[in-house]
Amino acid sequence: MYILTIGSHSSLQILHGAKKEGFRTVLVTPEKRVKFYTQFAFIDEVYGYKNEDEAVEYINSFANNGILIPHGSLVEYIGPERVNKIKTKIFGNRNLFEWEANQKKKMSLLKNAKIKIPEQFENPEDIDRLVIVKLPGAKGGRGYFIARNKNEAKEGLNKLLEQKMIRSIDEVIIQEYVVGVPMYFQFFYSIILNRLEIIGIDIRYETNIDGLRRLPPDIKVDPTLVVIGNIPAVARESLLPTVYEYGENFVNTVKELVPPGMIGPFCLESVVTDQGDIVVFEFSGRIVAGTNLYVNGSPYSWLYWDEPMSAGRRIGREIKLAINSNKLDQVLT
Ligand code: ATP
Repeated sequence: MYILTIGSHSSLQILHGAKKEGFRTVLVTPEKRVKFYTQFAFIDEVYGYKNEDEAVEYINSFANNGILIPHGSLVEYIGPERVNKIKTKIFGNRNLFEWEANQKKKMSLLKNAKIKIPEQFENPEDIDRLVIVKLPGAKGGRGYFIARNKNEAKEGLNKLLEQKMIRSIDEVIIQEYVVGVPMYFQFFYSIILNRLEIIGIDIRYETNIDGLRRLPPDIKVDPTLVVIGNIPAVARESLLPTVYEYGENFVNTVKELVPPGMIGPFCLESVVTDQGDIVVFEFSGRIVAGTNLYVNGSPYSWLYWDEPMSAGRRIGREIKLAINSNKLDQVLT
């Protein structure tokens, strides 16, 4: 059996883990990156594509003997229409892609799961507090802005319209800006073992907002939120039961609203306030790049496995467990 993924995001970790679990590994990547990826011995085949159609064709040549592992760059690199043409089975629930692409649907799913989310404003006129304005399909936070009040928000929105970054304000999501510390809770839901695992926590390192504290306080620079990397974190242990409950609620709600339900890794992206509230402003229904911190396992994955268990390896392990118990079709869509 071959495990395939697109060369970017968390592909090294995914294939490293797949190899450890005994699979043949294939990386599909734009041609110019072939040299970079060829240096890793755990990748059996590196395929460089000239265009995305070629990539899909190659992925489809593994329809009978391969599994594609999706990550945050799959839809971005291949495009949503082409992703629909992928015939090779993917690990996870492909019906979640559509929910992930729509910020409003995304927030409604969290709300349904009874997870605390930031206040949302449909009409800029109703804004009565500090807000963050988010663009659709933003690549790592580009174009997002923070506004102190409704006038600043309207000004910012007009600028986005003028610059043609959006066509109408219905495309953006306006959320209360929650003051606290960000924490991204990484989970793995195992259908085969019928259990939810907390597999790690990270903090996203964003420019320039995380650099502003280096400046003297009288120098005012508008913050931007472009993701550059990730920093490891552990949470106060007393927060974990709530985090776990959120994870369970999420799994139950996805099962109800997006059949066949959650399969494998996901992440609840949160801000923790000084009242100990965990407010989730976003989720990812697949492996997140913050798990790259834990190629050798995280402080949490150790507790479940007592062996180095990255998210990538956990995916490989789940596939292996599924094959051995004749349940492979339950983890693929
Ligand atoms: P993606 O997973 O799409 O790359 P993300 O998980 O980083 O994005 P976004 O919703 O795109 O999350 O937000 C980007 C950044 O903006 C977050 O990392 C966080 O620092 C900040 N942020 C987003 N929403 C809020 C909020 N409601 N309150 C406070 N900060 C927020």
